[in-house]
Amino acid sequence: MRYDWILFDADDTLFHFDAFTGLKRMFAAFGVNFDEQAFAHYQTQNQPLWVAYQNGDISAEELRHRRFEEWAGRLAVTTQHLNETFMNTMVEVCTLLPGASELVASLEDKARLGIITNGFASMQQARLQRAGWEQAFSPLVVSEEVGVAKPHTGIFDHALNLMGNPERSRVLMVGDNPHSDILGGLNAGLHTCWLNTQGKPAPEGITPHHEVTSLGQLKEWLLGA
Ligand SMILES: [Mg+2]
Repeated sequence: MRYDWILFDADDTLFHFDAFTGLKRMFAAFGVNFDEQAFAHYQTQNQPLWVAYQNGDISAEELRHRRFEEWAGRLAVTTQHLNETFMNTMVEVCTLLPGASELVASLEDKARLGIITNGFASMQQARLQRAGWEQAFSPLVVSEEVGVAKPHTGIFDHALNLMGNPERSRVLMVGDNPHSDILGGLNAGLHTCWLNTQGKPAPEGITPHHEVTSLGQLKEWLLGA
């Protein structure tokens, strides 16, 4: 294997992040029928907040507060309560991407595996536990705990320090988001693999070293290399 280390993004790289299902289930507990229109409206607020968070313009705390501000007012609960309930629900509805189990099982004795996620700290351990991956990934680096998010080089430097500063060209960063995972990996001097399940063109100026459309394809490429 040409890599000593493989670093994974978590959401939509190893785990499905089905926010609609999670929100629907959460709001049902408040007697709200959260439909597709409500989800589309939520995303008009949520998505720009994630971009602002990635860019370092707002904190994780501010993101969590602002994305549920409107619903908290409507339901007369705190945004903190909604966030905690949402995180718990997302752990319950969490599933693995096709091929994720096989990939991790086949790599475990061939390379060291880690995770760098821009997701929130509270759900990470529970999710790994559900997948049977308590021991599979080390380090598990969460942007909320580091204080900077991908693509900021600081979060990659932090991870590489924890890894004992291996040669960067022997570290592969795998992720579905070219703007955070791939750009961040490139800026940190790592090799990068874009999990491009929908076959989209790469954004201008972001050229991954490698591209796959599935985790099965990633496994074939890595084990064949
Ligand atoms: Mg992702």
